[in-house]
Amino acid sequence: MLDVVIIGAGPAGMTAALYAARSDLSVLLLERGAPGGQMNNTAEVENYPGFDSIKGPELAMKFYEPLAKFGAKHEYGYVVDVVDRGDYKTVITEDKEYDTRVVIISTGASHRHLGVPGEEEFSGRGVSYCAVCDGAFFRNRELIVIGGGDSAVEEAIYLTQFATKVSIVHRRDELRAQKIIQDRAFRNEKIEFIWDSVVEEITGENLVNGVEVKNVKTGEKTHVQAQGVFIYVGLDPISEPFKNLGVTNENGWIPTDLNMKTSVPGVFAIGDVREKTLRQITTAVGEGGIAGQQAYLYLQDLQDKLAK
Ligand code: FAD
Ligand code: NAP
Repeated sequence: MLDVVIIGAGPAGMTAALYAARSDLSVLLLERGAPGGQMNNTAEVENYPGFDSIKGPELAMKFYEPLAKFGAKHEYGYVVDVVDRGDYKTVITEDKEYDTRVVIISTGASHRHLGVPGEEEFSGRGVSYCAVCDGAFFRNRELIVIGGGDSAVEEAIYLTQFATKVSIVHRRDELRAQKIIQDRAFRNEKIEFIWDSVVEEITGENLVNGVEVKNVKTGEKTHVQAQGVFIYVGLDPISEPFKNLGVTNENGWIPTDLNMKTSVPGVFAIGDVREKTLRQITTAVGEGGIAGQQAYLYLQDLQDKLAK
């Protein structure tokens, strides 16, 4: 019987592991990929206090390295279900089961698909959701970025180091991205904006050759030439494995109280998968710290209860 199983080793999960392990609890961190989460897909992090600017994967390693020192264990595991057995829970991966007193869910969120013709067909052949992973394939090419949030605008800026031109297609005439990121994009000569417009189709033969764009105000349709299309239209929670637990809301996000407690005692949720307004490394870290400490307090109460 473990004290705490943490599902997902992004900044939220790794911080929870640090706090719980420092309270001398037995901690297992289960991760289906490389530790680091979304930080591994981020070129430069410029808003994490203590660093002017740091590469995402480098920051991920700085989170990961101290964990072993405090005894937190990390194993590969793709979690598919969690069963509530009252005073303990069973975490089920594709090939193993773990009994634990506390579960901390920190599985994050994944990029949303646009759902237009050509998106699936050209995925990996010009359509991408990760500039850091695929940007270098588009040297001296023209690119489309879809979306108006932090991801779209920041990644468009990143892509200008490879591309000759990056056109941001946004459905409104105002960006959602933070002001500092917007200003940087407005100053970048390689970036062009296609306002009030949606992409209705991604076209090509074997590879992408452009997009069909519709102006939502005038109804006018145009074909914009491009060899790459990067889609950043928001996030969906990764919470399918927790549906049976009954902790998700109608959109799949996990609501918690201020102590990161879900509706099931002994189950906490932190980071991007949580229902909240600001999805950042800083907020993931803060919530990880709270959940790590709350796990300790929960176990103290449980011990008293079981001793009676
Ligand atoms: P994640 O980082 O998403 O980690 C979740 C982990 O859970 C992943 O490693 C995943 O593999 C694992 N997992 C999921 N499901 C399972 C499962 N079933 N079993 C086992 N493991 C599972 N924020 C900033 O503060 N500054 C930035 O500059 C910044 N840039 C960004 C750039 C991009 C392109 C994106 C997409 C996001 C950016 N963010 C930035 C947001 C930030 O990365 C996230 O808010 C943060 O990573 C959330 O942390 P998390 O631990 O909740 O989730
Ligand atoms: P987001 O903030 O939800 O923005 C999604 C964007 O896509 C919005 O501009 C939205 O338009 C647009 N959009 C949504 N659905 C669309 C559709 N069907 N067709 C066309 N456009 C559509 O998502 P995000 O930019 O991926 O950011 C996710 C989270 O990560 C945010 O919390 C963000 O702050 C964080 N993040 C932070 C940083 C950083 O701090 N440097 C970097 C990246 C991400 P509307 O504006 O009209 O809604």
